[in-house]
Amino acid sequence: MTVQLQPKDFRAIEAIFGAHNYDPIDVVLSRGEGVWVWDTDGNRYLDCLAAYSAVNQGHCHTKIREALVEQSSRLTITSRAFRNDVLALFYEEICDLTNSRKVLMANSGVEAVEAAIKSVRKWGYRVKGVEDGAAEIIVCSNNFHGRTISVVSFSSDSVARRDFGPFTPGFRSIPFGDSEALESAITPNTVGFLVEPIQGEAGVILPPGGYFKKVREICTANNVMLILDEIQTGLGRTGRLLAEEHEEIEADVTVVGKALGGGFYPVSAVLSNTEVLGTLQPGEHGSTFGGNPLACAVARSALTVLVEEDMIENADTVGKYFLDRLSEIQSDSIRDVRGRGLMLAVELRPEAGGARIYCERLRDRGVLAKETHTNTIRLSPPLVITADQVDWVVEQFDSVLQG
Ligand SMILES: *Cc1c(COP(=O)(O)O)cnc(C)c1O
Repeated sequence: MTVQLQPKDFRAIEAIFGAHNYDPIDVVLSRGEGVWVWDTDGNRYLDCLAAYSAVNQGHCHTKIREALVEQSSRLTITSRAFRNDVLALFYEEICDLTNSRKVLMANSGVEAVEAAIKSVRKWGYRVKGVEDGAAEIIVCSNNFHGRTISVVSFSSDSVARRDFGPFTPGFRSIPFGDSEALESAITPNTVGFLVEPIQGEAGVILPPGGYFKKVREICTANNVMLILDEIQTGLGRTGRLLAEEHEEIEADVTVVGKALGGGFYPVSAVLSNTEVLGTLQPGEHGSTFGGNPLACAVARSALTVLVEEDMIENADTVGKYFLDRLSEIQSDSIRDVRGRGLMLAVELRPEAGGARIYCERLRDRGVLAKETHTNTIRLSPPLVITADQVDWVVEQFDSVLQG
């Protein structure tokens, strides 16, 4: 006998058995296709979060699924103790596409951030000549780079840090968007500057125009590696393959993840244009699952689909249209509308009573979005969203703000 669980049952079971480290919008999803997801009662929603950009290509994309299924019936994991016949093909493709010289594969985003930090530190000691143990990496306040001990060590979010110390030393924080602060924070021991092109978790915060050009100059002049965390901004989200293209710069080290797995599988990578990754020797870093053939096959397909199906251009054009339409909404509750490509946010005035209630009202109207911090609603649908679908989302948005 099978028992049909009700939404309240899922909630109750999760509450009893699960760690309470998330506070989800109450909806139990069981199916997805493109921009749409369905709950257990068959109600349909337009997904305006896209798993924080892990499913840029749209839910259950047929071609990526076929790549996954095909590879999963052939060979899934060998470990890096042996070679497999997919890794090299992925290496070549991603380096070619992103104009990188070397790549290191990992699984989750934060793991790739850690690997980038390790390799830039090693570059600092072996190439730049920093005294052992003294390497410093500069980061920005309100950053989000993941959840490991070392990465929360340089978070400015007290909730992300509280009770998790002691922390990893070697990081120094400066305000985001302030190139003079970067210049003054650099010392002879500075090996890297780790920064997001657009601060996503902080509420889709764009830097002032020209900031990254100056950052690039300062890093080059001081022999400091510019490490861009493009885990969220990368792979089409902002209307370019990498958000650095908007700034007309090239990072020394780029971290990608999320959409690299096409919504199917955790895949992340460190990309390097310099000698940074070249410093790593056998045994110094690794991951049992990193670079497995299944991950490589999924990632190859995830990249192919992004490019061949014009998803990056769509993010650019439909993203601009979405931003325009959101900006037209007349409501006293809105404080700011901002973003780039399909990485958008609507910030509400504090008097509006918090973004959460609006996200819940949007859910009741068939739109799934999530608040970030108290007053901001992030809108980052799969990159396959159409202008008509945007019109419909904006209608729902307009209604919940008036009601
Ligand atoms: C999501 C995210 C991460 C962490 O990725 P995980 O896969 O959750 O470890 C790091 N940096 C940025 C900018 C992100 O958006």
